[in-house]
Amino acid sequence: MDQVKNALLDALGEKLVVSGPSLRERATSYWDASPTQASVMVCPRSTEDLSTSLEICHSFNQALVTQGGLTGCVEGSVSLPSEIIMSLEKMTEIEEIDELGGTVTVQAGVTLQRLQEALAARQLIFPLDLGARGSCTIGGNVSTNAGGINVLRYGMMRNLVLGLEVVLADGTVLSSMNHMLKNNAGYDLKQLFIGSEGTLGIVSRVVLRTYPKMPSRNTALVALDSFEKVLSLLKLAQRDFAGTLSAYEVMWGEYYDDLTVDGAHRAPMARHYPFYVIVELEGVCQTRDSEMFQAVLEKAFSDEVIVDAVITKSEAEREEVWSVRENFELLLAGQAIYLYDVSLPIKNMTAYVYDLRQRLKECWPEYTCYVFGHIADGNLHLFIRPADEGASHADVNREVYGALKPYQGSVSAEHGIGVEKKPWLGHSRTEQEVHLMKTLKKTMDPKNILNPGRVIDI
Ligand SMILES: Cc1cc2nc3c(=O)[nH]c(=O)nc-3n(C[C@H](O)[C@H](O)[C@H](O)COP(=O)(O)OP(=O)(O)OC[C@H]3O[C@@H](n4cnc5c(N)ncnc54)[C@H](O)[C@@H]3O)c2cc1C
Repeated sequence: MDQVKNALLDALGEKLVVSGPSLRERATSYWDASPTQASVMVCPRSTEDLSTSLEICHSFNQALVTQGGLTGCVEGSVSLPSEIIMSLEKMTEIEEIDELGGTVTVQAGVTLQRLQEALAARQLIFPLDLGARGSCTIGGNVSTNAGGINVLRYGMMRNLVLGLEVVLADGTVLSSMNHMLKNNAGYDLKQLFIGSEGTLGIVSRVVLRTYPKMPSRNTALVALDSFEKVLSLLKLAQRDFAGTLSAYEVMWGEYYDDLTVDGAHRAPMARHYPFYVIVELEGVCQTRDSEMFQAVLEKAFSDEVIVDAVITKSEAEREEVWSVRENFELLLAGQAIYLYDVSLPIKNMTAYVYDLRQRLKECWPEYTCYVFGHIADGNLHLFIRPADEGASHADVNREVYGALKPYQGSVSAEHGIGVEKKPWLGHSRTEQEVHLMKTLKKTMDPKNILNPGRVIDI
């Protein structure tokens, strides 16, 4: 390690190669405040620095882990003592906003929120949005193929990336900085790096699609008394809001109730309904869209699809509603609780949640299970507290993924595989698929220095 560190120091200087006490102050991740394990961190400022760093690591067979905002949910960016951290935190330039072409070019370390704010000043949006926006980086979003709350209208990160620049394991810079929507000139190599969690290359720069900022927005929190009605409202919203539906976020009652107890979030509406949904539209005319929004919700109420609704009247009220959905840290305090991100066909969701609860109850009668998610995308998040000191994460995994198997669901909807879900990859991918993943990894990173042990083992 000392030899590599000295070579990195010689090439990049001590400002970009960090070690010692200042590195030990760095947290392991958003989820784990204990000090990071690695003893050396490199912070390149440019693609050239990154390429030089990788060339050096490659020549010493030095394993490294790439870090963006450390908000990933599957331990993919958690460092090991034997690894060097490659942090993108100094690569934060927003290089070009092309209003006519509808693109923005950024360095990979820029945070999602900073990009959103820079575009908002020009009446533009980058539509990916998720609760970790203040810390997560565009490079992390690309590498995990992030999803979030606007997928039903704009798609996942993959749909929003036009071009990429990636530095390969040996330091080669692969520039695929396409700006066009159409480009069928041979293989679309950028797709290999989107969602491969830093195992095939390090994303250094990205060309993204932008969209005009919609001048009108309407948001409501509604309550419903069954999951069938949650689905009826979704169908109705997709049809009657004429393509303007931008978010449809469901919270099962226990999630909402426990986040709105005294001293937690203020409850925007009464507690103890079985289901809550945040419905949001973005359109072109505030007056017309608000009238349509209200009329559709009133009809849903008179048809007994919904039992209660609060339409937000200001940005502060909107934030209050979203805060219940996004700021769930309160639920994580106390006894061990495990987080899940699964996908399955919408029609099977109630049956899956029912089966899972049965299994959990049999194993741990005092368990808690919070359910919420982007159900229009077939995506559920679960927080499960077995309330039993003897229950391990692996024990809970077995129940969550075991119940999922008959429904042909995926063990990862949007968070990726990382380290945490690696034993379960075979639940959602065939043997042949995993074999090809390994072949790609061996071909592109034969020394296995990029995020080794994440996603697959070779
Ligand atoms: C409160 C909260 C809410 C969240 N909500 C959502 C959500 O709704 N939808 C969703 O999809 N995710 C969500 N996440 C998960 C997380 O925010 C995303 O996975 C995000 O894309 C990770 O970005 P990051 O910069 O923090 O990456 P990191 O955590 O630093 O890294 C994640 C993975 O990407 C790799 N990586 C990072 N940068 C690069 C790069 N430049 N090149 C190559 N590999 C790289 C890392 O090695 C690691 O394997 C949430 C997380 C939190 C804490």
